[in-house]
Parts: sequence; structure tokens; C-alpha cells
Amino acid sequence: MPQTRSQSQATISFPKKKPSHTVDKAKSSSDTKLELTNAQAILLSPCAKILPLSPRKRLGDDNLCNTPRLSPCSPPKQGKKENGPPRSQTSKGRRLVFDNQLSTKSPSKREHTRVHQNKTHSSVPKGQDITTNSEQRCPLEKEPACLRLFKQEGTCYQQAKQVLTTAVPDQLPAREKEMAVIRNFLREHICGKKAGSLYLSGAPGTGKTACLSRILQDLKKELKGFKTIVLNCMSLRSAQAVFPAIAQEICQEEVSRPAGKDMMRKLENHMTAEKGPMIVLVLDEMDQLDSRGQDVLYTLFEWPWLSSSRLVLIGIANTLDLTDRILPRLQAREKCKPQLLNFPPYTKNQIATILQDRLNQASNDQVLDNAAIQFCARKVSAVSGDVRKALDICRRAIEIVESDIKSQTILKPLSECKSPSESLVPRRVGVIHISQVISEVDGNRMPLSQEGARDSFPLQQKILVCSLLLLTRRLKIKEVTLGKLHEAYSNVCRKQQVAAVDQSECLSLSGLLEARGIFGLKKNKETRFTKVSLKIEEQEIEHALKDKALVGNILATGLP
Ligand code: ATP
Ligand code: MG
Repeated sequence: MPQTRSQSQATISFPKKKPSHTVDKAKSSSDTKLELTNAQAILLSPCAKILPLSPRKRLGDDNLCNTPRLSPCSPPKQGKKENGPPRSQTSKGRRLVFDNQLSTKSPSKREHTRVHQNKTHSSVPKGQDITTNSEQRCPLEKEPACLRLFKQEGTCYQQAKQVLTTAVPDQLPAREKEMAVIRNFLREHICGKKAGSLYLSGAPGTGKTACLSRILQDLKKELKGFKTIVLNCMSLRSAQAVFPAIAQEICQEEVSRPAGKDMMRKLENHMTAEKGPMIVLVLDEMDQLDSRGQDVLYTLFEWPWLSSSRLVLIGIANTLDLTDRILPRLQAREKCKPQLLNFPPYTKNQIATILQDRLNQASNDQVLDNAAIQFCARKVSAVSGDVRKALDICRRAIEIVESDIKSQTILKPLSECKSPSESLVPRRVGVIHISQVISEVDGNRMPLSQEGARDSFPLQQKILVCSLLLLTRRLKIKEVTLGKLHEAYSNVCRKQQVAAVDQSECLSLSGLLEARGIFGLKKNKETRFTKVSLKIEEQEIEHALKDKALVGNILATGLP
């Protein structure tokens, strides 16, 4: 379920930049919206001396300018010559003086100050307003003037990404009809103590699993007297492994033996025993149970029709005609045929509605502009109607804008800062960003090797790609579980002194890499069992990543 703003948000932490690096970057970056060529800052306070702002030392967080705990005014540096002349001296050279607050609070000092704000503001491009830190007010009551450099934080991007995850949401717009059918089916069979089966089919990302999960969660609150068993057949080693897996869920204990006649008999006895709750058995990715002779599938579909069966079976798969084509014998036994429900691919309007509904949960000030939503919806509906892809594309497009914005630092007097509750969007995600992501996925499966795209490839994703490469090399297998990958990735992060993200965020990053065509994912009910593989050649990754110092280092050092 997408988390709302109030819920804790997973954040990706990046390594703390070295001060020298930051200064250089700020100095050279064309994005830095700071021009202090002819200016010098003077901060006035009744209790402090004039503290000139040293632009080169006040960029970013490194000099604690943006640290909320501390006074937003500059730390005392009177002792140091290079930090500016004492208050009584006539200032020479570069000065930035801000008097908009002095004019009301400290008029007597006005003659000592001059305003050079125009210079500052003229460097902020239109549409790139200033985002504020979470704590903007000057804690010193008598402080007349506060001036700070703001790193564009862009918390709005985090929030938007959070609501665009592929977790099961509270609301599933555009699936009202399908959900009503499933809900009625379950109510009728559970309340009427009637065994039966339902088969949900549809292309990937059409909401089959999400709708059923949502309904089961709701019904648990509403109805009593039924037990739910949900199995993702993708996680099973073989089709026959479904029986011990069911037995394990029923008995709540480890069942390691292969399914023998004894186990089958026990299972059948359990399902048909007079006493006991109705059993709702959900077999997701059911087409994985394809076996020679289809014995497994036949057995499962026949269970509800055993006399006094308590089983309500729900199968989910992509194949539209699984029961007709693969299980022709069911045709002959009319009563064993499951009720069918197909989930058609989402249309353009439906995808746009879903995206809009999610974004409404983030904030009123929308991160994606309307044209971008429509464009994404049109592109995805034309290819697959897979809303999972649409969500991934939007998150990736937000990431591109976010990393761009985060690299900018701008200067602004505190008096103009908006309250932290106001969510300003420094720059909206537009059609161009969506188009960039789509062309990365469609046209160029390895955007890392492109000059322009390289910078927008986030650090955590680079580390994840390297970790998967190292792991598959070490284990000599093509596919690893997300749990193992996360372990390896955390070790690499520790070694590189980079904060690691948690397992669920790791899954989200893997989704983005899947959207870029770099990772292949096979989902599993349990996050840690999701299978991850590399979709591009090893040499291609190495070649593309090695020119980055960090990535080269990770690959050369290997797994800890
Ligand atoms: P697959 O066949 O690949 O398993 P699926 O049909 O089961 O695909 P889901 O897992 O249900 O697809 O959907 C993927 C994600 O897309 C969901 O977890 C949910 O976040 C989102 N989603 C799908 N349909 C909707 C919807 N109608 N409204 C909001 N979000 C949706
Ligand atoms: Mg599914």
C-alpha cells in the first residue's frame, strides 16, 4: 500500500560530500544559483557583531548553513581576518547586505547596510522557486536578519515517489466492476459455506493480485469463519511442491517431504472434514503449475467438488484460456469448471486516472504536470496497458528531476521563506522527462553508456547493479533472491561508507532498474524471495560503469 505523507518514508542517503568537493562543485556548477561577485553579506544582530557571509564557505550543508538545529546565522568568525571587517569598519570589496528585516526591527542600523538582493534573485530562473528546509525560522528572537543558502531539498519528489510505488493501494480506480465480481463470489461462497473456484486472468500489471489482496484484507474485517492461504506459485521449485506448501500453511509446521499419497489423502480429508472454517486458497501465478499431464492442476480444480468440500479456490495467471486450453478435461466435467474473470489491459484514461489518484494523495501541488501524466498513460496503454510500468516510468522521471534539483543551491533571505508545510515544487516533471525514460527503456537498454544519461543514474542504483554483478559472479548463477542481493549490496555500501537503503526500497530500486531494461525481476509474495537477474551482458555493464570512480572501485574490490 502506498504510504502516505504521514508515514515514514524510506530515503536514499548519499555519502556526505567532502567540504572541498562541495565548494568546488558549487563554484563550478552552472546550476548553482549564486552570484556574489560584487557582494558581501553582513548579518546584523543586536547580540552579535556583523557576521559577513563568506560565500565560498557557506555553500550546502557542509558549513552547517542548512542544519536546522543550529542558528541559521553564521557561526562567529570574528577572529578570522578573511571573514570580513568588524562592524565599525567601512566595508570594502564584496558584500551582501540584507535589510528587509532590519527595516522593521532595527532601523537604527539601516545606514550601515545596503541591499543587494536583486543580484541574488535575478539568478534564480523562473519556475525554479526556492524550497525551504524543514526549519526555517530564526531561533534567536532578537535576530533582525537571517540569510541562508538553501539546498533545493525537493521533499515533494520523495512524497510523490512514495505514492507511486507498486505496493497494493487502498483504492483501485478503474477496477470497480472486477472487484465487485470477486467480492460477491467470495461473500456468496464463504457465507453460504459453498465450495467453488474462480480463475482470474489478464496481462501483467492489470491489477489481478492487487484487487484480490485488497478484497481479502477488507473481507477479513467484515467476515468471520474462513481461513486464507495465499501461495505464489513462482516461489515453488516444482508443480508438485504446491501440495507440501499447502499442507505447511494448513498445519502451520514445516513439511519437507515430497507430496506422497499420504499427504494427498490428509489434505483431502482436511478439506472435506465436516468441522472447520471455509478455506480460501489463492494460487497466484498459477500457470507455473504447468506439469506433464497437468495432474497437479486437475487435482486442484477437482478439490472443490469433492463431497462436503470446504475449499474456495482462486487461481490467478496471465493466460486467458488456461482452463480451456490446458485443462480440456475440465470441459467434460462441467461442474468442475471455475468461474472466469478476465482483467483487460488498462486504457489510456484508466492509467491516467490511476496516476492522478495516487498523486492526489501526495500533495495539492502536483509534481507531474498533466501533460506528462497523459503522455505516460498514452505510451503505456499503446504497448501493454501495464500500470506497473506506468508507475515505474513516473518514479524514474521524478528521480531525474529530483537529482537535478538537489544539485542546486540558491541564496534567499529567510523572511521570504515559505512555511515548511507549504509544498513547493521546484520543477515539475514534464513530457520531456517521461519521454527520456521511455526512450531509455525502449531504445537504449544501457543508458549508462550515454554521456547525458550517466549523471542521472543514481548512486544507489549503480551500487545495486554492481552488487548483483559481483554476486552472480561469485555464486556462478544467473538469478539470485532479493534477500541475498540486499545482503551483498549492504556489505558493499558498508565498505564504501555509503548509507544503504532497506530491503523494500531495494525492491523499488530493482523495479526502476527493470524499467531501464537492466534487471529482470520475478516477483514473489515475500519480497526477499523475489528473483533478480541481469538482463544485459556483464561486459556491457563493466564497460559502462567502470569509468565512474566509485563503481570501478566496487568491481575491483569485490564482495567483502
Ligand atoms: P502480474 O500478472 O504481473 O502478476 P497483476 O495483474 O497481478 O500483474 P498487480 O500486481 O495487481 O498486477 O498490479 C501491480 C501494481 O499496480 C499493484 O501493486 C498496484 O500498485 C498497481 N495497480 C494495479 N491496478 C491498479 C489500480 N486499479 N489502481 C491503482 N493501482 C493499481
Ligand atoms: Mg500478480
